[in-house]
Amino acid sequence: MASGNGSPVTDVVVVGAGFAGLYMLHRLRRLGFSAIGIESADDVGGTWYWNRYPGARCDIPTTDYAYAFDPELEAEWTWSEKYATQPEILAYLQHVAERYDLRRDIRFSTRVVAATWDEAAGSWRVTTDPGGEISCRYLVMASGCLSVPKTVDIEGADRFRGDVYFTSSWPHEGVDFSGQRVAVIGTGSSGIQSIPLIAEQAANLVVFQRTPNFSMPAHNGPAEADRLARLATDRDTYREEARWSRAGVPMEMAVETLAQLPEEERRARFDAALENGHLLSLFSKFPDILVNREANEVISEMIRERIRSIVDDPETAETLCPQDHPYGTKRPCLDTNYYATFNQPHVRLVDLRREPITTITETGIDTAGESFEFDSIVFATGFDAMTGAIVSVDIRGRDGVTLKDKWADGPSTYLGLTTVGFPNLFTITGPGSPSVLSNMTVSIEQHVEWVTDRLVHLREQGFDTIEPTETAEAGWDQHVQDCGDITLYPLANSWYMGANVPGKPRTFLPYVGGVDAYRAACDEVVAQGLLGFALSGPGGTQCNDGVVCRLQPDVALVLQTLADLALPPIESMAADEARQFVNTLNEARPPGPDVGEVVDGVLPGADGDLEYRLYRPASPGPHPVLVYFHGGGWVLGAHDSDDPLCRDLCDRSDTLIVSVNYRHAPEHCFPAPVDDGFAAVRWVAAHAVELGGIPGQLAVGGWSAGANIAAVVSQLARDAGGPEIAGQILITPVTDCDLTRGSYTENADGYVLTAPLMEWFWNHYADPADRTDPKASPLRAADLSGLPPALVVTCEFDPLRDEGIAYAEALSAAGVATRQLTARGHIHTSLTMVDVVLSGAETRAAIADALRQFLGVTVAA
Ligand SMILES: Cc1cc2nc3c(=O)[nH]c(=O)nc-3n(C[C@H](O)[C@H](O)[C@H](O)COP(=O)(O)OP(=O)(O)OC[C@H]3O[C@@H](n4cnc5c(N)ncnc54)[C@H](O)[C@@H]3O)c2cc1C
Repeated sequence: MASGNGSPVTDVVVVGAGFAGLYMLHRLRRLGFSAIGIESADDVGGTWYWNRYPGARCDIPTTDYAYAFDPELEAEWTWSEKYATQPEILAYLQHVAERYDLRRDIRFSTRVVAATWDEAAGSWRVTTDPGGEISCRYLVMASGCLSVPKTVDIEGADRFRGDVYFTSSWPHEGVDFSGQRVAVIGTGSSGIQSIPLIAEQAANLVVFQRTPNFSMPAHNGPAEADRLARLATDRDTYREEARWSRAGVPMEMAVETLAQLPEEERRARFDAALENGHLLSLFSKFPDILVNREANEVISEMIRERIRSIVDDPETAETLCPQDHPYGTKRPCLDTNYYATFNQPHVRLVDLRREPITTITETGIDTAGESFEFDSIVFATGFDAMTGAIVSVDIRGRDGVTLKDKWADGPSTYLGLTTVGFPNLFTITGPGSPSVLSNMTVSIEQHVEWVTDRLVHLREQGFDTIEPTETAEAGWDQHVQDCGDITLYPLANSWYMGANVPGKPRTFLPYVGGVDAYRAACDEVVAQGLLGFALSGPGGTQCNDGVVCRLQPDVALVLQTLADLALPPIESMAADEARQFVNTLNEARPPGPDVGEVVDGVLPGADGDLEYRLYRPASPGPHPVLVYFHGGGWVLGAHDSDDPLCRDLCDRSDTLIVSVNYRHAPEHCFPAPVDDGFAAVRWVAAHAVELGGIPGQLAVGGWSAGANIAAVVSQLARDAGGPEIAGQILITPVTDCDLTRGSYTENADGYVLTAPLMEWFWNHYADPADRTDPKASPLRAADLSGLPPALVVTCEFDPLRDEGIAYAEALSAAGVATRQLTARGHIHTSLTMVDVVLSGAETRAAIADALRQFLGVTVAA
């Protein structure tokens, strides 16, 4: 059906009638849009219509896994269990459909097979099976993340003459396995939920397992009293907390890393998580287990110990213990009696890694070592997750490009909701949004509300076409990847990575930055006038190009935490007070990696003794030496104040580091700190052997004002004819007293080192007349030739960025071998935040590489 004059028949076509499609239809209707829903099933429910296997339940508590948009709907529905069964959730969705009279707008038993963007009409032509065409202005794919079952790729799968079942499309009338020989293939969530119940009926059950999964007890029972009480007394706050939580469920998050907890406390927290039976418990009690491999292994091993303690047969227990992925990097499961099921004499586990299936036969399954006979085979083999349902529709956007082709190397989206070249197309819980990493009802509501609010905006402003810009999409893709890269998720062959489907590109599909951060990003896009979207229509055109979320995710988190603390600005303090303040903040830092030895000592400065701290690598010496100057604007800090960074560099570069406590302003102004720096380098060069260093293999380096000292010392050493310096490592250096460069304006405030703070530092350090002296502003040196090779590291959101780049360019122009590296999405302080800003590790590795190169350190294979 299409209108005669080419104008759309309906405002919106919504594909799918699960949680997402139903709410979308309801909200569109309430906002005055016409809409048609299309659903391949013969009724509503989506996931909960199809997945009727025994034991199918949600694994987010039903108090949370439900719509929250209508308090009246909430008030009239009571969940009977903590984790409701599939029939109960389906009944709930049927109730929702009836309550809001949604079925009348849905075409059931109808599949959307194609959708083509009609450029001239500015609308989508949607083709359905059975035949028909609908023209619509906007197309919403509410087609589900786990709605396209993975095709079975086992030889002989169609030969079996017994009964075949798929957990993802279970017969409505149920299945009675009594007295049968049953095979279950697959041990993901559906397998783990169904196996104990199938075992109760079957005469014989053989479970074929390729990858064991981590599962914890669900402790199902009545809905949790504490959550019910909170909902009864203050529902709105509870729901708002869910919307702004990490995963869509209100939950207290611990702050301590696992390493900070004594053994008994780790055990106590693990036991408490085990006791309350929540999918998210372990993540909330051990907040670093998805980013720290060692921490994760501690928890993984505790779960394995539990499996071994339940399963009687040691070999079966070992086969059930996941060893190939860190806990949480594949969706963990909640179960009821799963592991104990394998103690029953009629239940057997076959490890497909040792004994792969060679073929399915007419009567059973042949593995490499055995032939099995079965009456029924159950496939619990999972889904083509997140992209499957979207690309299985032949969606053609501008210039006839198909979405499948555009996403051939992995999906590319803006906010997980829209994609360039496909105007007016929205993907609910699409790739690049929190989606399957969250309580999906919360994410679905947020997406539906965001999309419908935008449609209202378009209508009000006289626009009828919306499409993201290339810049915005590339920026979002990068952000999604940045978030994934600091986690352990990429280490697993999971469906989050597309790894379960042969030929599917391997990319991390969901957004792992958190429901809260994601919601903030979507809100920010709106607050900035639909940043990253191009709009057009009778009302004209509008394009506010740009990128949302340019900071590295962990840097953004640090800034948010600091903002929440509302700390006083350092420049409002006296120098001593500021030192005390920074020392206190530093005490809370993770210490950085272990090194071979840390020794404190004293060396002669330009005018009296100076303390130093020596970091010796764990490898046998002697080692090349880096003389290091700490940051702190010539006012703050000491030889031990960059401890984590020095340990990290020592560990990564196998270099002995001597960190010097030069004299500080305002007590000792310019040029005292640089004179001390030069004196220290001369002394270390002369005493290299006693320190455990290799004579002649000496570099200088530093961070911030310390990098300023390192740069100046390199010039002084050149002019004095020694000592020989093999290289200079300048991390976000101060190189000039001009505070008017672009980076000062762009990053004046909000990124820890502010323009006013930098002014405060200069005011303490040097009289205005002295500041242009090359010993204060090394960029102003008349001659930069003949200096040691340099690595200059700058950070994107740093007032000092441009002077760092200027110094690198000036060094290069003077013939000095120079490499300049800009840390994308980082701020002045973030590279020093070892084990806090994990995304800085890559740059610190590059610094260590450069250092090794300067010093000729070979890396042990
Ligand atoms: C067994 C199981 C348990 C789960 N438990 C939880 C849980 O506890 N917590 C949680 O947050 N999430 C859970 N999920 C994820 C679950 O998919 C979502 O929570 C939610 O139900 C998704 O709703 P939806 O409307 O987006 O998609 P779906 O419910 O998948 O609905 C999509 C609908 O679109 C239809 N469709 C797709 N393509 C087409 C097409 N081309 N034409 C016509 N119709 C089409 C499908 O038939 C389907 O009915 C679970 C998933 C499974 C499989």
